[in-house]
Amino acid sequence: MKEPKLKIALQKQGRLADGSTALLKKCGIGFSNGFGKLRAESEDFPIEIYFLRDDDIPEYVADGVADIGIVGENVLAESPKRVETVEKLGFGRCRLSVAVPKNFEYRDLADLAGKRIATSYPNILNRYFAGNGVAADIHEISGSVEIAPSIGLADAVCDLVSSGSTLFSNGLTEVETVMRSEAVLIAKQGLDGTPREFLDKLLFRIRSVLAAQANKYILLNAPLDKVADITKLLPGMKSPTTMPLAEPGWVSIHSVIGESDFWEVVDGLKRAGAEGILVLSIDQMIR
Ligand code: ATP
Ligand code: ZN
Repeated sequence: MKEPKLKIALQKQGRLADGSTALLKKCGIGFSNGFGKLRAESEDFPIEIYFLRDDDIPEYVADGVADIGIVGENVLAESPKRVETVEKLGFGRCRLSVAVPKNFEYRDLADLAGKRIATSYPNILNRYFAGNGVAADIHEISGSVEIAPSIGLADAVCDLVSSGSTLFSNGLTEVETVMRSEAVLIAKQGLDGTPREFLDKLLFRIRSVLAAQANKYILLNAPLDKVADITKLLPGMKSPTTMPLAEPGWVSIHSVIGESDFWEVVDGLKRAGAEGILVLSIDQMIR
């Protein structure tokens, strides 16, 4: 009998491909995804990986061809297919924005009433304009949206942006953010039995990886009379670990701190008398 496996759909090529593969590898799931491969298996986990175009992933998951998948929230919001969003993954961050040519005198969304807007995201954009009570003329085009105004195909565009350099080099100015997006793990609605058990196991690993990425391990030396002040700045997982140094009157303190307020904490620690501060990344953080 064939062993049951969790079937996951990943983007074959493109902006989410590397992040998706790297996440699975950090979860201890290695596989080879050589050029042109459509399917892979892993020696490390009961999983079968399908490499697809990102736009097809919600449909494959909704129809149960794959149990789970990794896709941008933008693709999910555009797709009419319903799936369960299991976890935000923290990569593939971008925003879907409306942009107009530099010479367009833009004040607010009402200025786009009756204008032609080119986008690959007609469903999201129709909802956005309807929600704001503006009637625009939305044209779906499948690629190179940013050149539509310069060739006279549209008055404005709505496209994905991360740095904004593509818009800028095409003479466009970003004027509205329609939605923000990042990669998410999705699952077929009502997934149960063995695939759900495998998903829970994978999710436990993913959460450990994400928690580890959001934190740093910090080691520092401190004179005994400063330990109380320094400890206040270090929440740790429970409380910081302290160990005596060979030099009398000094200890080494170890703790975990969040990436978001990292520099503020380090500044505070220095002011409180910490020395020899070392900061390390964490591979896994099991809670
Ligand atoms: P496919 O061939 O799989 O259909 P694609 O051209 O639609 O690929 P990519 O450009 O690789 O897709 O983008 C995949 C996803 O990466 C987007 O749907 C979005 O969620 C995310 N992303 C992050 N930053 C950007 C960006 N600057 N431009 C476009 N997509 C981005
Ligand atoms: Zn696509």
